Amino acid sequence: MSDSIKVTAMAGDGIGPEVMGATKRVLAAAGARIEWEDAEAGAAVFKKGIATGAPQETLDSIARTGLALKGPLETPVGFGEKSANVTLRKYFELYGNIRPVRELPGLRTPFSGRGIDMVIVRENVEDLYAGIEYMQTPGVAECLKIITEPGCERILRLAFALVRAEGRKSLACSTKANIMKATEGLMKRVFEQISPEYPDVTPSHLIIDNCAHQLVIAPEQFDVIVCTNMNGDIISDLAAGLVGGLGVAPSANLGDHAAMFEAVHGSAPQIAGRNLANPTAFLLSAVMLLRHIGDFKAAEIIEQAIYVTLEEGRNLTGDIAPRGTGVGTNTYTDQVIANFGRNSDRPSRSYAPLKLPEWPRKTWHYEPKTREFVGVDLFIESDLSPGALGDSLLGIAANSAFHLSSIANRGAQVWPVSAAETYVVDHFVCRFVVDNPSVDENAAITDLITRVSPAHRWMHVEKLQRFDGKDGFAKSAGEG
Ligand code: NAD
Repeated sequence: MSDSIKVTAMAGDGIGPEVMGATKRVLAAAGARIEWEDAEAGAAVFKKGIATGAPQETLDSIARTGLALKGPLETPVGFGEKSANVTLRKYFELYGNIRPVRELPGLRTPFSGRGIDMVIVRENVEDLYAGIEYMQTPGVAECLKIITEPGCERILRLAFALVRAEGRKSLACSTKANIMKATEGLMKRVFEQISPEYPDVTPSHLIIDNCAHQLVIAPEQFDVIVCTNMNGDIISDLAAGLVGGLGVAPSANLGDHAAMFEAVHGSAPQIAGRNLANPTAFLLSAVMLLRHIGDFKAAEIIEQAIYVTLEEGRNLTGDIAPRGTGVGTNTYTDQVIANFGRNSDRPSRSYAPLKLPEWPRKTWHYEPKTREFVGVDLFIESDLSPGALGDSLLGIAANSAFHLSSIANRGAQVWPVSAAETYVVDHFVCRFVVDNPSVDENAAITDLITRVSPAHRWMHVEKLQRFDGKDGFAKSAGEG
């Protein structure tokens, strides 16, 4: 097997070993030149006391092969804090989550016949899922949504490359830039900046809630959609539902140094070990792996055989077979292999190798032409009314470098005038604007905190800056 490619195989939990077994059998029968390195991850690993769910040998194997096919992994309650899936995605910085959503022949859904054939590209490591969370007061939680310019540019360039590799035409970037102008807006701005470099791709932008709506109203309009992490998580599951659900949805997680392929479904513990699992999603994930390593021939043989099997509707697993006709995982797998060499009415797309953007490992730094110090937001925990807190802070800030300009509560201004009929909580964002922008900002902030501390409990300081003449901070609702 000297010209074979090594791939790490993690069977995982529940139905994982069954779908992995079926898939290895299908790939071998199709002549795919893969040498498997079996590795452990998931429940059994947690139970050994390894809190990440993925032992060092497994990480070493993936680092060596750069390729992994992964079954579903459970995070057993009471063992380990982290999900093994998250460990793997983070460890190898698998920033590009690719979810093809293609109508499968023979699988009746309310959307059958519309020709759905799209790919959702989701940024997989930034955003709210970075897990930067704090209880700011006993009753108020904060999760930081950190979006970076290189993170946006890298996923967008990957999405443009994917449009080209799959011979597609258009790329829709979907964001919530109308509300989150800094974070989601950054994704939109970078999309608009780099789109002209891809004149063969038609770019468009749509707001994510409209995207969800359009996916249900007219899903056939989409070619490739690219999103930040949480938006992509939600709409990719929605889109999978249009073509038959998570049970038939494959996925890839791509990074600069490794790529990991997995079915979207979980370990289905209720049916595990009973020869009932449908291996289609896992097989289609392996098809993505084959295309990734350039084995387009084996990929197409297997994909077409799956399509023919579904089209003819003979020997399907119970979850998709007509009532009472379901067969076991092994019989379905045999049927797919028996259909090798046959072509379905649904041709496979023609694929070219996907070229990931080159992404130097360095500290990415963007220096603005001008940078102005505007003030600070001081987050204060207090049981006072907004008016009483405002009076107190006005007094405290007198003769400091700042003046109190506003106080917000739950994102709405509550002082000097209230912008909303709202209850308040004990978490106030107090905006202090500097009177002389050329003041020594560090000394001024330290002085302000020293003045506030004896009277109020503060938990967070956020610097207000203006870059190249543009405010680098949002205004609260009602703030002038
Ligand atoms: P699930 O996907 O395992 O099951 C949902 C439903 O779909 C069940 O009825 C199940 O029987 C059915 N199903 C799923 N895959 C199937 C298949 N291939 N063939 C036939 N039927 C199938 O979701 P869940 O029950 O929410 O999760 C079970 C476990 O899997 C949990 O521990 C969860 O954390 C884990 N999980 C892991 C991953 C992953 O590793 N990427 C993803 C999702 C869930």
